[in-house]
Amino acid sequence: MKIIKLHDLYFKPFINADEIATIVKTLARQVKADLPKEEVPIFVGILNGCFLFAADFIREFDGNCEVSFVKLASYEGTTSTEKVKQLVGINEDLTGRTVIILEDIIDTGATLQEIYDIFRNKNVKQLKVATLFFKPDVFKKELPIDYIGKSIEDKFIVGYGLDYNNLGRNYPAIYQLTTQPKMKNIVLFGPPGAGKGTQATFLKDMYNLVHISTGDVFRYNIKNQTKLGLLAKKYMDEGDLVPDEVTINMLKAEVEKNAKANGFIFDGFPRTESQAEALDTFLAEKGEQINGMVALEVPEDKLVERLLERGKTSGRTDDTDESKIRNRFNEYNTKTAVLKDYFETQGKYYGLNGVGSIEEITTRLAKVFDTL
Ligand code: AMP
Repeated sequence: MKIIKLHDLYFKPFINADEIATIVKTLARQVKADLPKEEVPIFVGILNGCFLFAADFIREFDGNCEVSFVKLASYEGTTSTEKVKQLVGINEDLTGRTVIILEDIIDTGATLQEIYDIFRNKNVKQLKVATLFFKPDVFKKELPIDYIGKSIEDKFIVGYGLDYNNLGRNYPAIYQLTTQPKMKNIVLFGPPGAGKGTQATFLKDMYNLVHISTGDVFRYNIKNQTKLGLLAKKYMDEGDLVPDEVTINMLKAEVEKNAKANGFIFDGFPRTESQAEALDTFLAEKGEQINGMVALEVPEDKLVERLLERGKTSGRTDDTDESKIRNRFNEYNTKTAVLKDYFETQGKYYGLNGVGSIEEITTRLAKVFDTL
């Protein structure tokens, strides 16, 4: 999950689709459990916001039911107005029926007041209210709410039917209003030997960013014989990738250590699609995002040559044996190269020629960094 931008505002992930599904299922079960056995209720959804909730709710409801809608409007932008307009009313005869209102969210209670007013004269047998979300801190009325999916703090949310000026309803998860992302976070990408580490040492100073090389962190841990180092060593010696879970947790810890950073240059991470997804979600929870993936493109033959040359002085055992080097390329081609598509579909991939002098390449990279 990532930060989303709707009109002029940014929203960060708040409640994911799985959690919503669980809440909806629980609500449907509670409502069913409280009804007399043969009772056929009429569910009345309050449009527009409830349309996804209502659709999912009635599919989870185990039994016969009728469905109807009324359309009310009370929001302008991100603030609730006290004036509620009725845009589409109720047409059914509700005499003697059990009516259960389906609301996406109840905050001040202005809409709820209007609902109680609308149904007061309809001679219903009983009226109950089920809301997916409830904001207890701003609720001002003395009106009953029979079923609450989840109580949340008073922050503006969108997604799963809820909108900000008509956008955002289509997202399957709930997002919460956040400030504009402040960091510059860049993934420096390329196959082994492309020059990522060399370039990162220049770029981090030029842009005042923190450079995290997962390979360097692993090597540091191996040198100091930590538990993490011992675990990573057997994979690294073979040129295999270290398992995702280990790498992701380590990366998160490195980011947390530098919570005040202007941003990060990620070097050697992400290397798999699940690492990329974990990084997106992790940053999004902080209200931050990846600004771009900048890739150094170098032909493979040139890379092997460079790595063998580096192996003469680097002290890296994975640089000296050509079969281990080939295995690292194999890992890159089968697991890592796909990340180009991952970032390209987001419009965040910037490929550049990684052949040339160190200074030339720094200049090329800086041109892209300036735009991110
Ligand atoms: P590097 O210094 O980036 O070439 O990384 C050296 C070795 O560290 C790799 O061959 C892997 O064994 C391990 N490694 C570094 N980063 C990652 C990562 N993101 N995921 C899995 N393994 C990694």
